[in-house]
Amino acid sequence: MLTAYLCDMQILDGKKAAQAIKDELKIDVAQLAAEGKKIPHLAAILVGSNGASETYVAAKVKACDESGFKSTLIRFENNISANKLLDKIQELNTDPDIDGILVQLPLPKHISDEEVINAIDPDKDVDGFHPVSVGRMVQNLPTFIPATPHGIMLLLKHYKIDTKGKHAVVVGRSNIVGRPMSILLSANTNPGNCTVTICHSHTHNLKEICLQADIIVAALGKPEFVTADMVKEGAVVIDVGITRIEDTAKKNGFKLKGDVAFDVVSAKCSWITPVPGGVGPMTIAALLKNTYHSCRMKN
Ligand code: NDP
Repeated sequence: MLTAYLCDMQILDGKKAAQAIKDELKIDVAQLAAEGKKIPHLAAILVGSNGASETYVAAKVKACDESGFKSTLIRFENNISANKLLDKIQELNTDPDIDGILVQLPLPKHISDEEVINAIDPDKDVDGFHPVSVGRMVQNLPTFIPATPHGIMLLLKHYKIDTKGKHAVVVGRSNIVGRPMSILLSANTNPGNCTVTICHSHTHNLKEICLQADIIVAALGKPEFVTADMVKEGAVVIDVGITRIEDTAKKNGFKLKGDVAFDVVSAKCSWITPVPGGVGPMTIAALLKNTYHSCRMKN
């Protein structure tokens, strides 16, 4: 049974906000094409046949199509050598038609994520994982911001969420989500200007820390980890987690679960992202935005 709503909870609808961004980009790209200018071109590399990775890459390619971008999907078998992958990245780095390069993670164990990320030209690093991009982000300089935290910032902006002076608790410190999220929320920007606490698996008193949060970003990959007793009344809750849970009732055999126990937490908070339909679509919209900017910067 759902607990009665204590405050007027509203949904941070990532699907809607992402559609608005994609629609704007579509108009901008059509304008470029009409003027005979170069249109954005994303190259996506997928190694192996991990089900979730296949889905994410397919969604990125589809979003490119919808906004009028060019995209090229490059697939390799799971046993590709690191050198062959690095050669391909080098080729894309020097191809003037390619504006953005993304390598879908995780890579097979025999290939170093770090080596591959470092091989991407920082000017085409639309995933924002290269150390040069990260360094620029930390200094609040123009750069490619990692797509998921960038998408969350765009979502907060879309819904005009007041973040100034708020206490944000980020659970998770990965290079692709938690850490950049903590940097962006603490930056002197709007949205931003939060006082940020970043938590991880060694954090003591996580529940007490979360209870002090005006904004919680849950990015740990543990389904329904954040429960109602961890959330302050009226908090804004951003659920980054996506875990596939077996569900024989579903055609594809699984359902997606976030890191937040939505049914009980939503009864307490002011705003919350659903899973699916929250952060996921915004990640893709942010990737398109990065690719568009890369194209415009170079041309
Ligand atoms: P990682 O596994 O790289 O990082 C998880 C983080 O959570 C680590 O910092 C870890 O701490 C921390 N953590 C794990 N258990 C606990 C715990 N009990 N208490 C506090 N902290 C804990 O995951 P990612 O950041 O890559 O992804 C997180 C989730 O977000 C996943 O479900 C992923 O699928 C999803 N995701 C969703 C995206 C989207 O577009 N919606 C995009 C990217 C990811 P420690 O560092 O100490 O190990």
